[in-house]
Amino acid sequence: MTKYVYSFGAGNADGDASMKNLLGGKGANLAEMNKIGLPVPPGFTITTEVCTAFYELGQKYPDELAAQVEAATKKVGETVGKTFGDKENPLLVSVRSGARASMPGMMDTVLNLGLNDETVEGLANKSGNRRFAYDSYRRFIQMYSNVVLELEHHMFEDILESFKEINDYKDDTELNAEDWEEIVRKYKSAVEAEMGKPFPQDVNDQLWGAVGAVFKSWMNDRAIFYRKMHDIPQSWGTAVNVQAMVFGNMGDTSATGVAFTRNPSTGEKLFYGEYLINAQGEDVVAGIRTPKSITKVQRVTMGESGESLEESLPDVYAQLDEVYKKLENHYRDMQDIEFTAENGKLWMLQTRNGKRTAKAALKIAVDMVAEGMITKEEGVARIDAAALDQLLHPTIKASYKRDVLTKGLPASPGAAVGEVVFDADEAEQMAQAGKSVILVREETSPEDIHGMHAARAIVTSRGGMTSHAAVVARGMGRPCVSGAGEIRIDEAAEKFVVKGREIKKGEIISVDGGLGEVLFGAAELEQPELSGDFATLMAWADDVRHLKVRANAETPLDAKTARDFGAEGIGLCRTEHMFFDAERIAAVREMILSEAKSGREAALAKILPMQRKDFVDLFTIMAGLPVTIRLLDPPLHEFLPHSAEDVEAVAKATGLDGDKLLQRAKDLHEFNPMLGHRGCRLGITFPEIYEMQARAIFEAAIEVAKASGTAPIPEIMIPLVSTRKELQILKGRVIAIGEEVMAQAGMKIEYMVGTMIELPRAAVCADEIAQEAEFFSFGTNDLTQTTLGISRDDAGRFMNDYIAQGIFEKDPFVTIDQDGVGSLIKIAKEKGRSVREKIKLGICGEHGGDPASIEFCEKVGLDYVSCSPYRVPIARLAAAQAALNNAK
Ligand code: ADP
Ligand code: MG
Ligand code: MG
Repeated sequence: MTKYVYSFGAGNADGDASMKNLLGGKGANLAEMNKIGLPVPPGFTITTEVCTAFYELGQKYPDELAAQVEAATKKVGETVGKTFGDKENPLLVSVRSGARASMPGMMDTVLNLGLNDETVEGLANKSGNRRFAYDSYRRFIQMYSNVVLELEHHMFEDILESFKEINDYKDDTELNAEDWEEIVRKYKSAVEAEMGKPFPQDVNDQLWGAVGAVFKSWMNDRAIFYRKMHDIPQSWGTAVNVQAMVFGNMGDTSATGVAFTRNPSTGEKLFYGEYLINAQGEDVVAGIRTPKSITKVQRVTMGESGESLEESLPDVYAQLDEVYKKLENHYRDMQDIEFTAENGKLWMLQTRNGKRTAKAALKIAVDMVAEGMITKEEGVARIDAAALDQLLHPTIKASYKRDVLTKGLPASPGAAVGEVVFDADEAEQMAQAGKSVILVREETSPEDIHGMHAARAIVTSRGGMTSHAAVVARGMGRPCVSGAGEIRIDEAAEKFVVKGREIKKGEIISVDGGLGEVLFGAAELEQPELSGDFATLMAWADDVRHLKVRANAETPLDAKTARDFGAEGIGLCRTEHMFFDAERIAAVREMILSEAKSGREAALAKILPMQRKDFVDLFTIMAGLPVTIRLLDPPLHEFLPHSAEDVEAVAKATGLDGDKLLQRAKDLHEFNPMLGHRGCRLGITFPEIYEMQARAIFEAAIEVAKASGTAPIPEIMIPLVSTRKELQILKGRVIAIGEEVMAQAGMKIEYMVGTMIELPRAAVCADEIAQEAEFFSFGTNDLTQTTLGISRDDAGRFMNDYIAQGIFEKDPFVTIDQDGVGSLIKIAKEKGRSVREKIKLGICGEHGGDPASIEFCEKVGLDYVSCSPYRVPIARLAAAQAALNNAK
């Protein structure tokens, strides 16, 4: 018989923290917390396998499940001395979702399950607290109706609001037992009116209803979107946790809260969290009441009135203090915890490794290494390489005069500028139209997630540091200011008002997520310094990685940025980018339009000094590091004007004949330019172009070697080669120019001639090609296009469908297609090395900055990856992590 249900409670558990795949993160950690002796209400976990089976069987359960659930429920009841469905002393449970990876708020949970018209009386009598019993019942009806019966929340909120209005109540806390009884009656009749049948009274029906709803929530829109964003496979499924309730809503010595063992925004080693007295779990995150700080230090820093948990319930705080330290030591990582105190006794309801900003991740890793809690390698392994991107986000220039509209909580760091928008769908549409937008809302809910993703920053007027907006924004690396309470949003009028100032939709504001400020107007932004913890961690990463990291760069600015970010050379300098400059394009066009070689040579003579100057700049900045220069690659028509207007303007500016220009552009038209007259094919038919470029490279190298005493190492790269012969011819010409220039200068420099591998034939015949090539650089953009026969520029029309239907797991232009393109790379490597043992191997193209592709490069044994300058730190870290993973 398959074991579908894993129990935990009273210091024992069937599972443990290593069983996340089967029990989900929440279930595995509930088991683990039990085992290490923490106070956890007993319960059981229905495995993720059941979720998979549930969908395979057309939303039915495996036969053995019912009996296992019944037995486990009974066991929970025995542990707490209550019985599920019992009129006198009823067991109540929560039914909670929990996948392998945490998906905060994406799926559903039902609390207080097991209440009906009879058990509620039992609860009231047994607890001696009638108000509490009916408060719990009304919460249950609302949650269950929403999650299981799919009725709208607002139906219940409206009933409660109008009841409060009639009775002149402001806060929920003012309602007494009779009031809640009245609310329960109204809720039940509303449900009956909607559903045509009464609210379910059979507790077993309730339980199976909730279990089914949790499994179904795996496939709800927000869960699907979240998975897509975080690369979580659908096949994992969710587990369901059924757990005895503990009650934070029993009165003034009861409370509920969430906390982080260290500050998740800054990484500071300070216990950090929020709580509410006399409340249930979801109240804290839902933003219904604004929660208060847990520690006194935090309360003072935040300038809050009222008492922290440390002050209001010192005894509970003392229990919590002990537990959080124990948890952090046990998991050896920052924990995100949920707890509830029932009549002064602390209960733990969840722990997981806390989500954190990139900045906090760095600080926590570096601190924990210093504390001796983890090793440097573990520190390196823990940082999400892709999330480093957040640190490369701009901040607001210190000199910028801020027009501060209001301040809220600094929920997620970074700065952004954009147009105000109030609606998630609209934010998405405007972003798709190329606009920068800032989403301003009272609070966000999981339904807004696509709009948050589309926005540059998020502002909310309600909710705390652990509100939905704050948690999601931090995860996405979006700057966020939450709880900016002075903002009054008028959605109907598409504006917000703050301190008497009116900001309409479409007006520009700026957000400083680090300070929690919302500014009027477009702030001036700047790039951050990459010192301190960042530099420390990068140095550790550099110690363990094998792959070198270079950058793709053409301009001096890019080359400098690349060096600042730690690039160890240039892996791809695309010379054609140097041709588009306003003063050069005229000479380039003159060259293209010349019908005779002599005309082309005259034009090339004008380009030569400019091109030489480009290389002098790059070589100087790269100071002796290798620089791979790719000779002209794109088809020539890319340099010519196309529209009649442009042709006229060019004709005027250059004194060239307009008709001739148009005719030449037509002549150069190709049906399929990607596979047309480009790359080395240009070099074959117009030798003088590559000769000019080679001359510029050698002359520049010698100039820099003489001036600085450090000789650059140019790696001259011929694109789009598919045969040995092409390379042999072109290499011969490059070498001839090199010999000539060096002889003239009376100086020799080191250089290499190699090729890109970007055509399947080149990969398959790499042994032939390696007889000429001194290095291979895998041009994986083109290699992906030519291997899959998919043009990247046209893939947008179908790529989403291909991913949605599971044909590609990931976009092959983002993450290397290991089976296809990857196999070609392996073949090329083996064949190349069989002929030339030490042939240098690298990859350029988008994949060079993608962590998963970098891991592949490490496995294959390439020498370096090359990526855009801003991704160099990500690549350094990813290369280190790849090396660590490979060593395992
Ligand atoms: P989420 O994944 O959205 O946090 P959870 O399953 O953790 O959903 O539950 C939502 C809220 O209910 C949390 O605040 C949690 O602490 C609280 N909660 C869950 N189970 C219980 C329980 N057995 N007793 C008291 N509170 C609970
Ligand atoms: Mg939770
Ligand atoms: Mg290419």
